[in-house]
Amino acid sequence: MHLYKEIVLRPGKEESIKRFHPWIFSGAIASLPEGLKEGDTVRLLSSDRTFLGVGHYQPSSIAVRIMSFQDQRVDASYYKQQISTAYALRLRLRLIRDDNTIYRLVHGEGDGLPGLIIDMYGVTAVVQAHSAGIHFDRELIVQALQEVYPPEKLKHIYYKSEGTLPFKANIEDTDGYLFGGKEREETALENGFRFRIDWEKGQKTGFFIDQRENRLLLEQYASGCTVLNMFSYTGGFSAYALRGGAIAVDSVDSSSKALSIGEENVALNFGKDTRHASHAEDAFKFLREVPDGKYDLMVLDPPAFAKRRGATRNALQGYKKLNLAAMNKIASGGVLFTFSCSQALTRDQFRMAVFSAAAISGRNVRLLHQLTQPADHPISMYHPEGEYLKGLVLYID
Ligand code: SAH
Repeated sequence: MHLYKEIVLRPGKEESIKRFHPWIFSGAIASLPEGLKEGDTVRLLSSDRTFLGVGHYQPSSIAVRIMSFQDQRVDASYYKQQISTAYALRLRLRLIRDDNTIYRLVHGEGDGLPGLIIDMYGVTAVVQAHSAGIHFDRELIVQALQEVYPPEKLKHIYYKSEGTLPFKANIEDTDGYLFGGKEREETALENGFRFRIDWEKGQKTGFFIDQRENRLLLEQYASGCTVLNMFSYTGGFSAYALRGGAIAVDSVDSSSKALSIGEENVALNFGKDTRHASHAEDAFKFLREVPDGKYDLMVLDPPAFAKRRGATRNALQGYKKLNLAAMNKIASGGVLFTFSCSQALTRDQFRMAVFSAAAISGRNVRLLHQLTQPADHPISMYHPEGEYLKGLVLYID
């Protein structure tokens, strides 16, 4: 007698799951058991009733997210096992150091925990659910975190899922501290920088951890440069540019809230630094008004233009337009760091959009580096969709 309701697939639809792909699309399902509710844990069977996996059910296009290919329960010990494996990897990656306390602990499918993101900021964990199943299991996740981390290394657990749950939720019913919350330290360290992280009101879990290594690369190029950090958010790239010896750094973002934390971040690391200035403006408007040749190092890190598959055409146009605007203005001998975090776009599609921009600009553009997400955002070999961050570093004559 099994605890979980069973979902049976249509004939032949077990192929992808046999290759360990963790998603089952709704069209693959033969029939749903009676009384099945959003977020329920289910056992998945092939049409000949062979066991395939256990997962969370969601009444959407991705109908089941496989949590395990073993016939097991998704309970406290399951979460503890998965989270301790994820923690061991971050230790192995040497991301938990005296000078680095910001890292992604759990990256969804890449850590065998579809629907779950956990970002660490010092002694604070920010937990984010992207599925109802994870939302309902959040107390188990808290328990697992507390078993994996020694108490002095984990003092607060903040739950931030209002914007990512598949159903409409009230922020009061979802977001808040599941543990701790009093006397908290709201700064943490990345490669020696102290950054203030606003996990309660900031975007995503509060910080874009995925750019850590790309920021280090930018630092190498910054010496003597006048830098434009477009879509700067709280100034991650700007801090690295300043440390790298930039002459001047302009941070541009449409969010004045993000910019003011960016100002704080500059002050935290450099005191009063007159090389840095913030501009609350729209990216396209700002770029139009930039004098030709003013900047010789630029970063373009826009929000995802393609939020879903099917929206790719407009997104590609958007990337093309943005990159063209930057290429038209960058100084000769300039270096452009350009990114896309749209999961729905492939690496090649993004590169083609940048290629089109280069061709229209008519400038000599050379590709120096091809960038991606860091190792604490691992990609399961069986789930290529987990690769989302794409970056190109261009040298423009
Ligand atoms: N590079 C940042 C992350 C950028 S996230 C980092 O390393 O932390 C994308 C940013 O783009 C967000 O801060 C958002 O406020 C900003 N943004 C969105 N639309 C914009 C627009 N039209 N013009 C300027 N900024 C915009």
